Amino acid sequence: LFQPVRRNARGFDLGDIADLDCIEGARRPYHARRFEARPLLADGAATEGAEGHDHPNPADPADIVSTVYDASPDDVSRAIEAARPWPASPRERGNILERAAELYERDFGEILAIVAREAGKNLLDAVGELREAIDFLYYYARQSRQLEPEPRGRFACISPWNFPLAIFTGQIAGALAAGNAVLAKPAEQSPLTAAKGVALLHEAGVPVSALQFLPGDGARVGAALTADSRIDGVAFTGGTETAQAIHRSMHGNLDPGAPLIAETGGLNAMIIDSTALHEQAVRDVIASAFQSAGQRCSALRCLYVQEDVRDDFMRMLLGAMDELRLGNPWQLSTDVGPVIDAEAATAINDYVAAARRQGRLIKQVEAPESGHFVGPAVIEVDGIDDLEREVFGPVLHVAGYQAEDLDAVIDAINARGYGLTFGVHTRIEDRVQHIVDRVHAGNLYVNRNQIGAIVASQPFGGEGLSGTGPKAGGPDYVPRFARGTPPPAIG
Ligand code: NAP
Repeated sequence: LFQPVRRNARGFDLGDIADLDCIEGARRPYHARRFEARPLLADGAATEGAEGHDHPNPADPADIVSTVYDASPDDVSRAIEAARPWPASPRERGNILERAAELYERDFGEILAIVAREAGKNLLDAVGELREAIDFLYYYARQSRQLEPEPRGRFACISPWNFPLAIFTGQIAGALAAGNAVLAKPAEQSPLTAAKGVALLHEAGVPVSALQFLPGDGARVGAALTADSRIDGVAFTGGTETAQAIHRSMHGNLDPGAPLIAETGGLNAMIIDSTALHEQAVRDVIASAFQSAGQRCSALRCLYVQEDVRDDFMRMLLGAMDELRLGNPWQLSTDVGPVIDAEAATAINDYVAAARRQGRLIKQVEAPESGHFVGPAVIEVDGIDDLEREVFGPVLHVAGYQAEDLDAVIDAINARGYGLTFGVHTRIEDRVQHIVDRVHAGNLYVNRNQIGAIVASQPFGGEGLSGTGPKAGGPDYVPRFARGTPPPAIG
């Protein structure tokens, strides 16, 4: 009767020594523990004999965080067969998802430790990750009660490693809120964080037949799931090419009405005009391009600076980059942690090295030698057409533009076909409106950084090659998992 209109995660004040002590005390028992992650099936133990593999901490590869056992294709098939839509009423489902949110709060120390050690998140990012996961649980719980949605059946939920708890939890909570049975496949780089979320959802009261856990790699476990004709829908977040491959495999094998909800990559741009406040724009560019080591789908990839102010602005930006600290994600002073693994570090460093050879590298911050670190880099380009693809790391491309070419710049950005985030820094109100009207992007950010979105207040998701919609954390998300909503079209 007296339910608040909206409930959010309690959060922490990282400027408050009491909160920091509280976090430190709660995570200490887990800072050196070695964990395990295993498949969890409704009809009994997973296939015997699967070899466990060690999962190292990307900041310190000598720290083995977990031993992970992958699901086999036979496990995938058994899990699909044993999956049962969640029989609880929408009200009960909502109550149980809320209970899960409370359990996430209860175990915050363990979760923060795992997210930092498995995915290399620094404290700020790890806290943001936990809060977003909890917010999704509260928001979709409420939608379950209000909308009383009818399940479609069995949903495969396939998630990326860059938000190993928040996106993993959000997809599952959306599908469960609508009463579906979920088969959850986390990214192979972040199974432990996902396993912890699944354990808490089960503890809260979600039956195992409605939530089974299938760690393993995409080509084996993910592909076996999405191509199976017993699946009624797929929620996917990850790269655009992976989404396209899944879409093709679904059309071959699934009922054509089965939805693919895909949230994918972007070539995100920001425009800084001659009226922008430099100090603020520099701070926001640094956060947009380099926070989370650039491993956010929303991260800034291509910055356009009006020629009249370009030299001044770049001097300030490059100076600010000298202040960035790379290192142990758990140190409060760390701005930029590691990238996710050795493969990612090599690929990004090779890309930066090629730009250096071509004489386009403006600056790269030095990175620590041990651990999978990549120094934040700035590369000069003529425009967005020089970017071959999304480089998922701390690499910023910068171009200049003349005031009279603003529309041509926006058209070139639109023409790439993505449409995730877009940023603008200007003090001219009409220009903001002009840009907002012309740009194709799911989320636009004005005079601020272009990363982060608050569940329920700022629904997040792209268009075109960046996703099918509906936006996560928005009112249309849970209905898409329910009957009675037409399937989306993929760009
Ligand atoms: P990814 O390589 O596409 O993988 C995403 C998920 O798909 C992983 O669980 C992966 O499994 C699985 N997968 C790979 N191949 C598959 C296949 N053939 N069939 C079924 N599943 C398959 O992406 P990522 O490297 O994890 O994440 C980074 C990407 O995600 C970036 O492009 C980023 O922009 C995007 N992203 C988008 C959003 C958004 O909201 N729009 C949010 C976050 C990230 P394995 O990892 O085990 O192989």
